[in-house]
Amino acid sequence: MKLTADNYYSHETDWQYMSVSLFKDFEKCEARALAKLKEDWQPVSSPVPLLVGNYVHSYFESAKSHQDFIEANKKELMTRPTKTNPNGHLRAEFKGANSMIQTLQADDMFNYFYAPGDKEVIVTGTIDGQLWKGKIDSLVLDKGYFCDLKTVDDIHKRHFNTDVAVPNFIYDREYDLQMAIYQELIKQTFGVECNPYIFAVSKQTPPDHDAFKFEGMTDRYAMHDDMRKVKELQPHFWKVMTGEEKPVACGKCEYCRETKMLTGFVNASEIEV
Ligand SMILES: [Zn+2]
Repeated sequence: MKLTADNYYSHETDWQYMSVSLFKDFEKCEARALAKLKEDWQPVSSPVPLLVGNYVHSYFESAKSHQDFIEANKKELMTRPTKTNPNGHLRAEFKGANSMIQTLQADDMFNYFYAPGDKEVIVTGTIDGQLWKGKIDSLVLDKGYFCDLKTVDDIHKRHFNTDVAVPNFIYDREYDLQMAIYQELIKQTFGVECNPYIFAVSKQTPPDHDAFKFEGMTDRYAMHDDMRKVKELQPHFWKVMTGEEKPVACGKCEYCRETKMLTGFVNASEIEV
């Protein structure tokens, strides 16, 4: 199946192409990832943080994309109409998103690097024989780099995920893995080795913003290690998808809590914390 802007996020193409978000889903909980993919189960969590991210993204994609996004999500973006305000008004989270947009827009370095790129470029490739897909926020092939735009609560918050190289939001959310995969898929699609950059903007008032590269020793090593991890874990994930192997349940997530049945006693001293 050929990937297009319309089917990129469909579960139909997820069965053929691994993506960074699906891979991360499987890493967190295989049982939950599979249930989502089969459309047997959907998370009930609030879509607002995701919508804020998409609101900011669509603005920097094009005026039309932003207008289309607002039209399509009017119900979530606006408050309920009242007598004094028959159209409702923009919800606080999206007023915040507007100030995130203004923060980026006022920054010369952001404009210099992010603005000239091709937006939402679909890239594909194979990693150890398995198909992968990716979507690049802003790709500047002739200068050999690509940018990803991230919205984050607080750029400087410390995270406590012990599996990662450095306890900041980039490593906590495995954005380093995303950059490693995208770099590889761009190389396979266009034959150009590109440097990854992340522009992050925070939801604070006023918003913080910053630009990140992956050129330090730790960053390079982390990206190298990410590719190794992908190659190590993906064969099992694919086998879970085809039904050849059973998914492992994490036992703690939303999905696992909803479907949990006790099988025995656990020593009080051995509760996983
Ligand atoms: Zn789980």
